[in-house]
Amino acid sequence: MNIDADYISDNIKAILQRIEAAAHRTGRRAEDVKVIAVTKTVDENRILKAIENGLFDLGENRVQELCDKYEKMDKRCSWHLIGHLQTNKVKYVVDRVKMIHSLDRMELAQEIQKRAEKAGLIVETLVQVNIAREESKFGMERDSVTEFLKKVSKFTGLKVKGLMTIAPFSQNPEEIRWVFTELRKLHIDITRENIDNIDMDYLSMGMSNDFEAAIEEGSNMVRIGTAIFGKR
Ligand SMILES: *Cc1c(COP(=O)(O)O)cnc(C)c1O
Repeated sequence: MNIDADYISDNIKAILQRIEAAAHRTGRRAEDVKVIAVTKTVDENRILKAIENGLFDLGENRVQELCDKYEKMDKRCSWHLIGHLQTNKVKYVVDRVKMIHSLDRMELAQEIQKRAEKAGLIVETLVQVNIAREESKFGMERDSVTEFLKKVSKFTGLKVKGLMTIAPFSQNPEEIRWVFTELRKLHIDITRENIDNIDMDYLSMGMSNDFEAAIEEGSNMVRIGTAIFGKR
């Protein structure tokens, strides 16, 4: 592990510059793209470095780790659950997360609804879509999303704010650019449907390897771990 004190700050500065350049290429500004610092397996001292550099939105893919860090870290942080969420763990996160990025089935929506109502909350979620149809990945099939949203639109304890996808891993972002293009198209189609109580504010796509291509295709929320903190 790199112990250079400036390592994380330098990484963040470089990433923000690359985000700005990619945003400019689509006529947007760096501020239009929200950066989620993915802190899974990262210790508190290193997370503090990211916070010092202005990254207050933190992403975790495990419920237990999110809850532990939630207790320890600065309360100004916002936590994003970006990994698969088991129905029986919803109760631990509803009052801790800013947003759940991995809503991918009705059973989960119903449980979030139930727990949120009990706690008097409205939980913000993104619908995870398995655009690349990888068997190893979670997420809804593209063609099921609109019907799903029409049902979820009646739920008062959760608020859909957009879509999320994970592209297949590739060294060459050009090979997977189509995944981002497809999610963007779905986003446009759903926006046109104008479903009650469903917002399409966010497109959460892009990770360390591919965030520039994702932003060029319309992403406004990138989830970045390795490029900030180094290899896990
Ligand atoms: C780990 C993870 C990321 C960050 O991946 P990096 O390649 O380290 O940037 C983003 N999204 C999800 C869902 C993840 O699990």
